[in-house]
Amino acid sequence: MIQLGMNRRSRLEKMYNRFYKKLNPVNSDDSFTCYYCGEPANCYDHTPPISCIDYYDCTGIEAEFLLVPSCSECNRLLGSTNTKTLADRFTLLKELLRKHYSKVLKSTALWSDKELRELMEDPNNLNNCIVDMCRIGNIASKRIDYPGFDIT
Ligand SMILES: [Zn+2]
Repeated sequence: MIQLGMNRRSRLEKMYNRFYKKLNPVNSDDSFTCYYCGEPANCYDHTPPISCIDYYDCTGIEAEFLLVPSCSECNRLLGSTNTKTLADRFTLLKELLRKHYSKVLKSTALWSDKELRELMEDPNNLNNCIVDMCRIGNIASKRIDYPGFDIT
């Protein structure tokens, strides 16, 4: 019987997990927490990914072979990207999160917590703020696109 998808992954993990050292949090408060982002962990992330084991086996290049608790989103974002150290993987994950949430990060950087609370208290205020933001954005775009004029 042919097994594909998650079954294949489970079989590979069973086969190769013995090569990896499972790291656990020193502080028990960090149990079940994603090493990369602090959200609840529901799986383990492999450094380097299991899919890259042949690369290290063939080249003889050394890697750390570590397992850390991870949330599924961090695990998915990192995927099979070949990183040989946990530090490299950690840095890569931060870049991937910044890229994945770039639009939201730009928006939230514009508002203070106090301003957001005020907006949430009055739905009309929220609508007006969005309209104002679009108006200001349009004006800013026109100013940025303004070609200037001839001067003597
Ligand atoms: Zn995470």
